[in-house]
Amino acid sequence: MRSAESSSKYEDLRKVVKDFIRLIGDDPERPELRETPERVARMWLEELASGYDQDPDEHLKYFHVSSADYISANRLIVVVNVPIRSMCEHHLLPFYGYAHIAYIPGDEVIGLSKFARVLNVFARRLQLQERLTEEIADYLYKKLKTRGLLVMIEATHTCALIRGVGEPLSMITLSTRGELSVDEKLRTEAMELINNSRASIHKEDTIRE
Ligand SMILES: [Zn+2]
Repeated sequence: MRSAESSSKYEDLRKVVKDFIRLIGDDPERPELRETPERVARMWLEELASGYDQDPDEHLKYFHVSSADYISANRLIVVVNVPIRSMCEHHLLPFYGYAHIAYIPGDEVIGLSKFARVLNVFARRLQLQERLTEEIADYLYKKLKTRGLLVMIEATHTCALIRGVGEPLSMITLSTRGELSVDEKLRTEAMELINNSRASIHKEDTIRE
């Protein structure tokens, strides 16, 4: 059933991309472009917009831990450099970067690789970085049953890069819940842990530019 639905979507989208190429002034029949509508339609349905068809709960797998051990020995768990690839809803152009998450563990934690999958469900839709950050924070705060959570996303927006001069290319958004909203000392500690681990990325970014 699902494949029939996606194949009619695919066919419609392929036509739209073909029209799009014609409307911007090129010839969709020239040999180099002949397979482009097909390729673009598949890319959107299978990758860039794949988040619409997914439930983030499918990717959650919990590990039970003794919260007493965690809280006394290591109060915060910090997950850094989770890749974010999304499409800006204002221009349909990519923005990309990393999410960093800090939380106070409850009785259950989720595996490292699951963070990337869960975040991907929210990112693989048309998004605003601000809303993406809030949605991830709301979801993880609820699912991790944590007393406090912080989500930071740093992303580069290609719409700013190729359209304008002087617009900010990279943006950092921050969202906090629970104790990490109200406890300034804890928030500073979380930010320091994140900043220490993400420093190398900035170095690489600088070299690449
Ligand atoms: Zn944009």
